[in-house]
Amino acid sequence: MLTKAPKGTKDILATEVYKWQYIEKIFRDVCESFGYKEIRTPVFEHTELFERGVGETTDVVQKEMYTFEDKAGRSITLKPEGTAPVVRALIEHKLYSGAMPLKFFYITPCYRYERPQAGRLREFHQFGIEVFGSSQPAVDVEVMSLVYNFYKVLGVEGIGLNINNIGCPKCRADYNLKLREYLKDKLDNLCETCQSRYEKNPMRILDCKNEKCQAEITDAPLMINHLCDECSEHFERVKEYLDIAGIEYKVDPKIVRGLDYYTKTAFEFISKEIGSQSTVCGGGRYDRLVEELGGPYTPAVGFGMGIERLLLTLENNGIEIPREKGLDIFIVTIGEKADKEAFRLLNNLRKNKISADKDYLGRSIKAQFKYSDKLEAEYTIVIGDDEVEKGVVTLKSMHTGEQQEVKLSNLIDELKSRLGR
Ligand code: ATP
Ligand code: MG
Repeated sequence: MLTKAPKGTKDILATEVYKWQYIEKIFRDVCESFGYKEIRTPVFEHTELFERGVGETTDVVQKEMYTFEDKAGRSITLKPEGTAPVVRALIEHKLYSGAMPLKFFYITPCYRYERPQAGRLREFHQFGIEVFGSSQPAVDVEVMSLVYNFYKVLGVEGIGLNINNIGCPKCRADYNLKLREYLKDKLDNLCETCQSRYEKNPMRILDCKNEKCQAEITDAPLMINHLCDECSEHFERVKEYLDIAGIEYKVDPKIVRGLDYYTKTAFEFISKEIGSQSTVCGGGRYDRLVEELGGPYTPAVGFGMGIERLLLTLENNGIEIPREKGLDIFIVTIGEKADKEAFRLLNNLRKNKISADKDYLGRSIKAQFKYSDKLEAEYTIVIGDDEVEKGVVTLKSMHTGEQQEVKLSNLIDELKSRLGR
């Protein structure tokens, strides 16, 4: 127990962390190029926020939350997703009183008590964006376009965009009546979860993964055929803007999204390769959430993407993430005076933004060179006590093996020019 990380969690070791840094950097860059600003919210919130903000009929709230009482008896929950906390922050700090739209991005760990498998963990990571304050269909497409661009920069192929419109409270109420009517006689054949959704959120039955349920709903009425004029118009505009953006898409009337607060546009990016965990990114409009949580009416749209699943997608696409370079300089020392000189030099190199390291284990010269190789140093500097007396060092290229004596006083300039800094 003591030496094993809890089930469903993973260490990200140095051998892998460069992949995370790479995709996080690209995500930040793409977000910034679209005018989004980072927001960081706490890892835990009051449980009520997720009960209200994610929705009581969702799997997340019903089965998956890490909820506990703190020492003062408050019910606290580890963040299972990124959106509700951002909305809470928007309301708490009255950010909506500033210029709209507000555009945020986040990168955060999330926690869900699920059965771990490939692409499904208990601690996982999401990045996402949220736009507040505009109900225009073009904003929905901007959000999808950001995701699309992100995949493009990463070089991911084989990702499809599926879109749907899941209506608004007005048209969904009428539609729910029709759907319940359709399901009335089939109720006994549905799984337990779907039976419990029948009253509160029957639309969710459409995306149940249970085959028996799927068989019952083959010709169920679809929300998309029962939209009110406003929602229908919105859907048409979204499609138009997707065409303008040159983004291919498919309409999938069965996309429901797991979360209760979605309205109008719902979309998913699907990877064709990772089997049952194929949704790599889900998002949509949630015009009612800010109000639901106690703020003023504020239309909003966003997406959330699992980083672990993105990494799987990259792997399945054969995309090599560039490894970070090794060290610029490793200093090999011979003798005690040289060791002190090397320590002084290290400081100077680092101050000049040249990455550098030295031996700290009293290795032999041969072993120091071997270690320098392991660190993938571009150059090795050799300093012996003699060199210290003469004020010189030996500079050796680890690529060509070529070596040259360089005056200590010229060293930084020489290195800067060789390293192109
Ligand atoms: P799924 O149907 O796979 O359970 P979901 O509908 O629960 O997905 P969302 O709540 O929309 O997923 O979360 C957004 C994204 O976060 C998902 O598309 C996925 O990439 C990722 N994700 C969700 N749950 C997990 C998990 N347990 N482990 C890793 N990634 C996850
Ligand atoms: Mg889930």
